[in-house]
Amino acid sequence: MNSTHKYYMSEAIKAAVKGLKNNDGGPFGCIIVKDGNIVGLGNNKVTSTNDPTAHAEVIAIRDACKNLGTFQLDGCTVYTSCEPCPMCLGAIYWARPEKVFYGSNKIDAAAVGFDDEFIYQEIELPYKERNIPFEQVSRAEALQLFEQWSNTEDAKQY
Ligand SMILES: [Zn+2]
Repeated sequence: MNSTHKYYMSEAIKAAVKGLKNNDGGPFGCIIVKDGNIVGLGNNKVTSTNDPTAHAEVIAIRDACKNLGTFQLDGCTVYTSCEPCPMCLGAIYWARPEKVFYGSNKIDAAAVGFDDEFIYQEIELPYKERNIPFEQVSRAEALQLFEQWSNTEDAKQY
């Protein structure tokens, strides 16, 4: 069992190494496994695609969902070379896999300049004290979207 997890983690790390060789972006890789098969694969491509959301986990989730033809990763396991950042943590929760295995942790990542801890701290702050301030505007108009959604009979819940 343990050697199986180590094998899949080595595949996630392999994806990261390939990305490094191609100069795709940061040193991160991720694979998604279902029923023993690798159904999704990704490595960080932030700098090569000018996409700040192109983290390994997001790319692997998109790849797995495309391959499986679904928006939910039921019965899937995520293997990521580093503990997910808050964005990827959110993406993983939306995708709803069964379990996540990670290699290095967020403290290791911060030590080489990938400081996700900063974002975790921002979440705790009042909106106006955040580094990027959040302010609410036009709530009533925006709420009409939810009313429309509630009245849409064939709305696909997720
Ligand atoms: Zn991330």
